[in-house]
Amino acid sequence: MRIHRRGSTAAALALCLGALTACGGGSTPQGQGSSVPPPTSESTTPSGAQKPAEGAALRGRTIVIDPGHNGANGEHPSEINKQVKIGNGSKACDTTGTATNAGYNEHAFTWDVSNRLAKLLKAKGAKVYLTRKNDTSVGPCITERAGLGNRVKADAALSVHADGAPASAHGFHIIEPIAVKGFNAEMVPDAHRLGVALRDAYRAGTGIPYSNYRGKKALDPRDDLGGLNLSKVPKVFIECGNMRNPSEAAKMSNASFRQRIADSLASGFDAYFAS
Ligand code: ZN
Repeated sequence: MRIHRRGSTAAALALCLGALTACGGGSTPQGQGSSVPPPTSESTTPSGAQKPAEGAALRGRTIVIDPGHNGANGEHPSEINKQVKIGNGSKACDTTGTATNAGYNEHAFTWDVSNRLAKLLKAKGAKVYLTRKNDTSVGPCITERAGLGNRVKADAALSVHADGAPASAHGFHIIEPIAVKGFNAEMVPDAHRLGVALRDAYRAGTGIPYSNYRGKKALDPRDDLGGLNLSKVPKVFIECGNMRNPSEAAKMSNASFRQRIADSLASGFDAYFAS
């Protein structure tokens, strides 16, 4: 995703900075395994019978999944760079995202993971909305990525991303909102709970470690993202790993591992609603 640092000396770590072209562009052919297989909703079901069935807390919940970026963003810079208001300033409508060194694009990754996750959540009785309908168009703007959750009064929302940091950086992190007065303040405590639940499930389910370059224990509070500032419903982002790190790029380029990612995130939503 697009990284914005506020005067951090660690700015050198951020490859996915403001410039539209800095994150690998959107025209590289995507990697293997972009097709979405049938759901494997039983893959995380524990064998023990004492606890409530995994996924039971998802029934009847409304969840918005926001696959970061979009496939045609790179060819439409004027639309994507249009400034939109995010509550405490302005930001580009959307960004192109990053890619692995082999050319597997972040937008394709987020689209694939989001669809796998949506199938799992629907299979457990949740009502799921995606913020975009395909991986071949432009946007939507971050205002709409937040706006959908508000309109459908989502119980929770997640924006799916992967990072483009230097190769030595590794691990995943959750971006959670900092309150912006008059905008998202009421949802911040629940978003923190959501972030912790997703973090714990993701760590346990994927084995990917906490980020060694962002946040504390894989939680990174920010107030510079329109998708969080403008959300009235509990929402966080996940940076699933670093696409420029060879080990994590290999995992994210693998369809089986993306299913594992989706399984983990579905478990995280279940844990959030069960708590
Ligand atoms: Zn991204």
